[in-house]
Amino acid sequence: MLSLLLLLQAQLPHDALHYDITLIPSDTGTHVLGEVQTTWRLRSTSPVRMKLDSSMRVIRVLVDGKPNTRLSRTMYARSETEVDVPHQKRAGDSISTRVRYRGLPRDGLVGGGNSYGERTIFADNWPDRAHFWFPTPDIPGDKATVSFHVQVPVGQQVIANGALEKIDTLPYRHTVWHYSLNTPVPVYTMVVGIGRLARTPLPNAACAVKCVSLSLWSYPQDSAYAVESFRRAGEMVQYFSRLLGPFPFASLAHVESSTRYGGMENATAIFYDQKLYRERKLGEALIAHETAHQWFGDAVTAREWSHLWLSEGFATYLATLWIGHTAGDSALRTRMGTAAEKIFGSAATERPVIDTATSKLTELLNSNSYQKGAWVLHQLRGIVGDSVFFGGLRRYYSTYRDSTTLTADFARIMSEAAGRDLDWYFAQALTQPGYPVLDVRWKHENKQLIVEVAQSQKAEWGTYRIPGLELQIDGKMVRIDVDGRNVRTVIDGISRRPKKVVVDPNGWWLLKTRSVNGER
Ligand SMILES: [Zn+2]
Repeated sequence: MLSLLLLLQAQLPHDALHYDITLIPSDTGTHVLGEVQTTWRLRSTSPVRMKLDSSMRVIRVLVDGKPNTRLSRTMYARSETEVDVPHQKRAGDSISTRVRYRGLPRDGLVGGGNSYGERTIFADNWPDRAHFWFPTPDIPGDKATVSFHVQVPVGQQVIANGALEKIDTLPYRHTVWHYSLNTPVPVYTMVVGIGRLARTPLPNAACAVKCVSLSLWSYPQDSAYAVESFRRAGEMVQYFSRLLGPFPFASLAHVESSTRYGGMENATAIFYDQKLYRERKLGEALIAHETAHQWFGDAVTAREWSHLWLSEGFATYLATLWIGHTAGDSALRTRMGTAAEKIFGSAATERPVIDTATSKLTELLNSNSYQKGAWVLHQLRGIVGDSVFFGGLRRYYSTYRDSTTLTADFARIMSEAAGRDLDWYFAQALTQPGYPVLDVRWKHENKQLIVEVAQSQKAEWGTYRIPGLELQIDGKMVRIDVDGRNVRTVIDGISRRPKKVVVDPNGWWLLKTRSVNGER
């Protein structure tokens, strides 16, 4: 009973609505003084619980702007990793907490010299490293709006989420940069970047749908290269806006930074690894991937990490669609083929895409979340056709924009769009490991082609349904339904013995054809 009660409480963290973050980094190091006011909607009478790493010393906590004195002795409780703030309010009430703290962040807010030896500070939160530098429950399912007030010496610039509202000049050669984002985003995308940064405005994008203000932020030494690398950034916003619906925010900045990832899709301010700039290796697919995340990841957010494919699989497939849009369908198929090879060679293939057993979140950055997630979408598109698929994607985006989802939400929207139940497909694609391995035999008799398809993958991977599997019989395309371990199909009207039968010639399915008539 007790454990059940604890479980219920654990499932009901209070809902953070807005973070107002003031940061004063020391002029020379990464030691920071922070003050964060958070507005909450309470879900219970239990204390407001925030994670804050032990390297941050809490100086003061206010509740609704006042010291928490009405509650006798307990103003707040500080454990190794958490700050608990008790209160006397009820579920449904709102409350604000204001935590002042200082310290040298061990992670999450990364300082030190950039690749040119100049001082920079960049936040890098994914997946749950925000609480190393500001107090937050630090979970993907609790989105909030955010504003930043960041004090820096004159000569340093600040980029953060949302719109730059103003820059105050202080008397002692410092400035305070105020940013605000009025759209709720996940905490792992709430960031600041500080340093000597060159800002290059790009022309507004996607004005036929809704104008988006674009800019590049790079180290001054790299600004010419940045302009060259991001020359299609506006076209990408335009392309995805038409495909998916309006860009979720008013602006988008592409930022050179020191993220540990190649790119990180921070809302309105995508951070890219400085090494890619130094080595002049910033690729278009990466830019398209991070841009697509603004729709899926930032605006529509996977509520639980185990559903990460809703973010990474979508961004990977959308980047592939961009490549197909600019370089043609064969380029798209080549990329999907490369993705398939990666899946075939990956240990992650032994696990389902929705992987609730993996406790280390960074292990979810694998071929299941990315390449197989992209394949889940590509196969779905093959099953339902372009008009249902893209109509469903648009509906999913407009329904869940600024909110969070699980896979079932996407599956429901897609089943509605298709006018039929697709749960079987999502179950096999996301909860079964592996992929189908086919051995195909055919013979020609009496103007008929008799085709036998055997699924030869290991038993632990289960059996797959492959409806409408295309067979190219010389010049003729025929579709067969494979819905069991061994399936025999008779195709009429094949007058001559075919020279060649090709399985899935257009590459709509993630599968391996191991042999055709015994030939491997
Ligand atoms: Zn990604």
